[in-house]
Amino acid sequence: MTGSPPSLRVSELAYAYPDGTQALFGVDLAIGKGERVALLGPNGAGKTTLVMHLNGILTAGHGSVEVAGLPVRKDTLAEIRRRVGLVFQDPDDQLFMPTVREDVAFGPANLGVRGPELELRVREALDQVGLPDVIDRPPHHLSFGQRRRVAVATVLAMRPEILVLDEPSSNLDPASRRELAEVLRSLDVTVLMVTHDLPYALELCERSLILSGGVIAADGPTRDLLADGDLLAAHRLELPYGFVVHQRPY
Ligand code: ADP
Repeated sequence: MTGSPPSLRVSELAYAYPDGTQALFGVDLAIGKGERVALLGPNGAGKTTLVMHLNGILTAGHGSVEVAGLPVRKDTLAEIRRRVGLVFQDPDDQLFMPTVREDVAFGPANLGVRGPELELRVREALDQVGLPDVIDRPPHHLSFGQRRRVAVATVLAMRPEILVLDEPSSNLDPASRRELAEVLRSLDVTVLMVTHDLPYALELCERSLILSGGVIAADGPTRDLLADGDLLAAHRLELPYGFVVHQRPY
């Protein structure tokens, strides 16, 4: 970590929508290179609003966002969007080409990557998500779980600094959920995942943030946060029935 800036630094970020709704009240956080962090919080906490600031869909009302030291601003947006790989909740919002190859090539091709280098990027990204064999298939012929992994590949092909996933486990059957977890664990990239799936956060992320009421209410080891029943209740977070998290032994 010495010398390199964090993958993501958010400082005093506040934002109100045009109708006056204040969604973020001064968010501070930093995510180091290679960390996998879960962003937890109840509906309306401001998670989507925060994520929309990370690649400049929204721009800071107050405060700043930096990706590997580069501030998110109008004049840096193209580079910011390469560095921040957003994976939407619905893969069908991300896949729109006739074949998987074209979908995964789309981002790097837009950056001017061509020919063998482009083919290499596509193959590498599909290898990373464990789907090298679907390259010539139409995305809509794949299972939902495969489509979500291809959506991850479309973003990995950009070689991002940070992968930001919105509810990565939603609508997956248990086997697809586990396969995606294996993929995410194997990646050598910084990850921020927004999720209501607390066991998934525990499985994949050493560290979690709780965003609640537009501020970071907690930031610590996922296991410690999930073992704190009062903290969870205060922020409308609930573990699945029968799921018990024990405090780490010190
Ligand atoms: P989360 O993703 O955690 O559910 P959001 O970021 O969607 O939370 O919402 C945070 C707050 O901002 C909520 O009070 C929500 O009602 C409000 N909000 C979200 N989108 C808009 C919008 N386009 N205009 C006005 N208020 C909004």
